[in-house]
Amino acid sequence: MRKVYLDHNATTPTHPEVVKAMLPYYEEVFGNASSIHQFGQQARKAIDKAREKVADFIGAKPEEIVFTSGGTEADNFAIKGVAYANEKKGNHIITSSIEHHAVLNPCKYLEKQGFQVTYIPVDRYGLFNPDEVKKAVTKETILITIMHANNEVGTIEPIAEIGKIVKEKGICLHTDAVQTVEKIPVNVDKLNVDLLSLSGHKIYGPKGIGALYIRKGTRIQPLIQGGHHEKNRRAGTENVPAIVGLGKAIEIAKETMEGESIRLTNLRNKLCSGIGEKIDHVHLNGHPGKRLPNTLNMSFEFIEGESIILSLDMKGIAVSSGSACTSGSLEPSHVLKAMGVDPAIAQGSIRFSLGKDNTEEDINYVLEVLPEIIARLRAMSPLYRK
Ligand SMILES: *Cc1c(COP(=O)(O)O)cnc(C)c1O
Repeated sequence: MRKVYLDHNATTPTHPEVVKAMLPYYEEVFGNASSIHQFGQQARKAIDKAREKVADFIGAKPEEIVFTSGGTEADNFAIKGVAYANEKKGNHIITSSIEHHAVLNPCKYLEKQGFQVTYIPVDRYGLFNPDEVKKAVTKETILITIMHANNEVGTIEPIAEIGKIVKEKGICLHTDAVQTVEKIPVNVDKLNVDLLSLSGHKIYGPKGIGALYIRKGTRIQPLIQGGHHEKNRRAGTENVPAIVGLGKAIEIAKETMEGESIRLTNLRNKLCSGIGEKIDHVHLNGHPGKRLPNTLNMSFEFIEGESIILSLDMKGIAVSSGSACTSGSLEPSHVLKAMGVDPAIAQGSIRFSLGKDNTEEDINYVLEVLPEIIARLRAMSPLYRK
């Protein structure tokens, strides 16, 4: 059976070149990067090189990059680290209602500790309005954290516009760029951000590695205490192979991003228009234009997303219902809810997220099997009237 993986926003396969780059750092260059002998210094050099690549990709300086265990830790570090370091200055945080749980849950945790959090609403495309952020700012505001692009619907947010607002007020601006790095250009100065999270496994790198960009001069408290690693910002012996892999993944992204962006947009649009032609009662979720090149989130009326996923899976096609972290719970997506999508329609939503190995044949295959699946599920649905 044909296998078609269309869940790249959940995770990506590790690029073969990345695996190749990592392997020597398990057996040959296995030294502890903190050791002063040659074994250690070779590992240290590899980390430095990877750090330069990551920094270069987002327009930062190498010393502004801290390696973490992934996107989740980078988000936690940014949010709790800035909150704790600035609590004498103020206790107010602004975020959006469509963040990943790696941002929402640290914010909720801080609320329990006495911080106040404002959740900015979004419009029906999943876009927030920078004026709403401006209005929400108080003299207590210490941090604004809003994602660069949403993982479920792909909407790209106007981060640069808040940067201008907060710069004058000395408020920290963090963005979760886990979904944008590798897919669209990301530059910390153009975005006006002080902190930015990224993750290895969303960009064809290994799992369990990520990075937080911290602009020079940003007050932040480390979350993990221990040795003097990462200039005292994140203790723990560095995961050298994974760091090397992240560096390699970013290096590849730099070369392929432009071409892939065009190719994936075309494939994605073909899938979207094909579905629109072959199936009725479907809706596009997310902004039609301001959207990640690879992401397509659609609602199919009268049926449940989970049933579509299982039926597609039996045909070898992997998709998801929004976020991998919320699947398994029958709660409708908080993102679609915040966008005001009717809960009955939100239930029938699935996310196709394309990636480097997808071809036109893959899309043709989906367009061949999906209409039958939808027709069969609707025939069984008590809600469906043609
Ligand atoms: C996947 C993801 C994360 C979490 O990153 P991990 O490396 O899996 O911990 C955070 N934010 C967004 C938007 C994501 O898509």
